Amino acid sequence: MIVTLTHIDVIRIASFLNSDAREVLKYVAFYQIIGEGGQKLITPPIITTRGIAYLGLLKLSDGSCIFLSKNKCSIYPARPTACRNFPFTFQVKNGWLYQGISIRAKEYCKGLGKGDEISEKKLAKKGTKTIKELKEYEELVSKWNSLALKGQISPTPQLFIEYVLSRGFLDLSLLPLK
Ligand code: SF4
Repeated sequence: MIVTLTHIDVIRIASFLNSDAREVLKYVAFYQIIGEGGQKLITPPIITTRGIAYLGLLKLSDGSCIFLSKNKCSIYPARPTACRNFPFTFQVKNGWLYQGISIRAKEYCKGLGKGDEISEKKLAKKGTKTIKELKEYEELVSKWNSLALKGQISPTPQLFIEYVLSRGFLDLSLLPLK
């Protein structure tokens, strides 16, 4: 499973770990999902110099998250939104907010159905915040993809992270093509 990231996640983790773009590239990955059966992720695909990819946390060779240490999350206060929401998923269809439970969670989440129930109000608040974050990220990626398609930027992973860390204020159209 890929832990997808948005601009907010990258900024939050980078600030927690005090990382610059080069350091961020040590713990994120640009995943290329190939083939007809390839799953579509909730975050938008990014055009990069190596093809279309999705931004996510790097996984170790055993498939575990790079931040999993001794069975605990080493960046817990700054964990991505996908981890904060797990096992819930949110999407908007025809202007309505829908919430669900991740299909994968049903396979392996041992905590499912245990503990205190989350109230509808709290869940709706979480969902609204998540959708707003995704919308913002889609806008940022759309601007990036459009410039990449027009050949106005060299869409390297490092430039993408610099763009994200600048909170989208970096004027990509002013950059010289590398
Ligand atoms: S909660 Fe932490 S260790 Fe678990 S997937 Fe998220 S970032 Fe990785």
